Amino acid sequence: MTMSTAQLTDLEHRIYAGQRLSAEDGIALFECDNLSFLGKLARFAQQRRSGNHVFFNINRHLNLTNVCFGTCAFCSFARREGQPGAYTLSVDEAVEKAVAGAPDGLTELHVVNSLHPTLPFDYYVTVVRHLKAALPKVHIKAYTAVEIDHFSKIGGLSPEDVLRVLKEAGLASLTGGGAEIFAPRVRRAICPRKISAERWLEIHSLAHQLGLHTTATMLFGHLETPAERVDHILRLRALQDATGGFLVFVPLRFHNVGNNLAHVPMATAHEVLKTFAVSRVLLDNFAHLKAYWVSVGLETAQLALEFGVDDLDGTVVHEQIHHDAGASTPQQISKDALIRLIQEAGRIPTERDTVYNVVQTYGKLA
Ligand code: SF4
Repeated sequence: MTMSTAQLTDLEHRIYAGQRLSAEDGIALFECDNLSFLGKLARFAQQRRSGNHVFFNINRHLNLTNVCFGTCAFCSFARREGQPGAYTLSVDEAVEKAVAGAPDGLTELHVVNSLHPTLPFDYYVTVVRHLKAALPKVHIKAYTAVEIDHFSKIGGLSPEDVLRVLKEAGLASLTGGGAEIFAPRVRRAICPRKISAERWLEIHSLAHQLGLHTTATMLFGHLETPAERVDHILRLRALQDATGGFLVFVPLRFHNVGNNLAHVPMATAHEVLKTFAVSRVLLDNFAHLKAYWVSVGLETAQLALEFGVDDLDGTVVHEQIHHDAGASTPQQISKDALIRLIQEAGRIPTERDTVYNVVQTYGKLA
């Protein structure tokens, strides 16, 4: 279904009028190869929300273990117990690593992990409690919905009670991983043992009801069709209508090194920028759209500011998951380099905390 010029003009007018787009509109936009047209629409939708501000934060990533019983075809991070490269941090090692690598002005610790076959739920609670004690001013953003479901099983608690216990220990928000692509056809092929879309959405909904903000992601550019991308995005939009608990949407580019999808070519910059643009105009109830520079590359992340993106993530400090899958980006970036990237694009670098309170803004390039 390729849209005529008249239909695209009609769609453009509906976006300018603030009307909600349908699944058919989304599919038609994915079929449109006029990237500058898509950028214009997305930039309009972005400017209405955040003007010239481009957000980033001072964050640090931490992965407690890579030992996993999962079988996700796109994954290059997981190891079996005893396999070369397999590791599991003790609680003390996790805290030492987080503190030792904490950059000045750290506001967020981002903790995601594999599904370890034997670690007890208490370990994950204790890690959060000790991290919070060691870094009391830092926002602990930890665990995916997939991990929360796993904790529910190993802890013998409902997901709601798991979230309550973790919140009491210091958890402030959930990460967005594990969403991949919601369509069952794709999940069966790329992550057959992972929770369903319904379960992922249910856990995020529970978190929102408990006052925990969360992030939404989409792993794109592998086996999914444009219609399945649109379906994914609109399911997120529906939950956001109901709870308002998502802070930001992060499309993540699939990487094809060291995993079972090595034969699948990666999305080109054109496809990445189109995905940002279409996401921005479909997600009329999401305040922010993030280009995670580790996943899409620094140059494409900077260009994505013309395609609806208003957030470049943060300093990161030692990213492992995407680098195991062949990401060629650095494992961290300095705050000054992030500011420079944003200034070069003619925008206002705006340092934020996890929930988008502004910490500081920086001037434009002289
Ligand atoms: S994506 Fe997560 S659950 Fe799947 S194999 Fe990798 S670490 Fe395990």
